Amino acid sequence: MPAIYIVDVTNRDGVQTAKLGLSKLEKTMINLYLNDMGVCQSEFGFPTTRHESLYLQANLELAEMGVLQPIRLAGWIRAMAEDVQTTFRLVPKLKHINLSISTSQQMIVGKFQGRKSKQDILKMMTEGVTAAFELGAESVGVNAEDASRTDMDFLVKFGQAARERGANRYRYCDTLGYDTPFTIYESAKVLAKEVGIPIEVHCHNDLGMAVANSIAGARGAIDGGQDCYINTTINGVGERAGNADLVAVALAATKAKNFGEQYKLGMPLNLSKAWQTARFASYAFKVPIPMNQPGVGANAFAHASGIHADGVLKDPENYELFDFTELGRGDPELVETGRQIISGEYSGVAGFRHIMGNMAVTFDDPAQAEQILELVRYANVEAQKPLVEEELLFIAKYPDIAKKLLTLTPLA
Ligand SMILES: [Zn+2]
Repeated sequence: MPAIYIVDVTNRDGVQTAKLGLSKLEKTMINLYLNDMGVCQSEFGFPTTRHESLYLQANLELAEMGVLQPIRLAGWIRAMAEDVQTTFRLVPKLKHINLSISTSQQMIVGKFQGRKSKQDILKMMTEGVTAAFELGAESVGVNAEDASRTDMDFLVKFGQAARERGANRYRYCDTLGYDTPFTIYESAKVLAKEVGIPIEVHCHNDLGMAVANSIAGARGAIDGGQDCYINTTINGVGERAGNADLVAVALAATKAKNFGEQYKLGMPLNLSKAWQTARFASYAFKVPIPMNQPGVGANAFAHASGIHADGVLKDPENYELFDFTELGRGDPELVETGRQIISGEYSGVAGFRHIMGNMAVTFDDPAQAEQILELVRYANVEAQKPLVEEELLFIAKYPDIAKKLLTLTPLA
């Protein structure tokens, strides 16, 4: 029986969000959290973008070291042979790649403005797939951007052409959040049957249906006989109204009525990391988690009205579908209310030793402390906000990797 897998795209689609961004260290931390959660793949960035090169290389090194395992790290580029060549020149060890191109009539007329025909789109995509395999890719996915506004005949043709070149997955992008659960179910099912490779569903939330569409799309792909890879972002960050939220998708896939018994996850998710992961992304993006966010919102397990409070106290299942501890919630949090010593880009060694000492980190000698502190200063320059414990611990544990993440050399 085909199964559902999660591909998180926070570090690619999430960081494309207007007004938001992440430092390279924060992107690395996100990959670590996703790996801890049991997410199958992180779309970890843009291999043709020069300021990503060292970050991408450093994360592939973490994978080689066994730190970022078993998660797959996949890059995302435009579907053209030239971008594939740039990719493997800048990030030679990349193994997994997604090639994206618009397929809809709207984009052919409105975006390409007559410069590209459907035939040109097929040619660019297939040349890209071939080039990627020639240059060492182990797996290649093709993305039909604006698939939900593309006629089905062309979507099938696009997928079949990709499969003939050896593509491993087909991403159906509901780029504008235009689908309903009913339409995406049908589309995913037809594509799974006609194209015959695993389907990815990439859903946006413009009409508030990203999670529902993801679940329906997954069901469609599986009913059509193929695995389904659902694209998510942490806290649903993404362009305009955002993407399908990771935790909500995980909850819907496992807790919703009559779904999880029949349509199963191919890799178990460690939901007990959900709370920590959502909190870190909220800190890193500087975007608060809405209080009514599924699973991780402040009100997700809060009860005030008499009937509900009485009911949940008698038996939590009266008014809660699942337990908060499953998501890693429930531990008390220590918040410093007195003197605080905080890391910053102008920090000195005494304060730094104090901060690290509170986390039981000691240094072999003053030189080592000074070296880690210097990396922490640079991390603060990039983040422009105090680092959290996990980031400080990461820098202390992997100073060489941190140095790569913090190295930006423009116009080299
Ligand atoms: Zn998107």
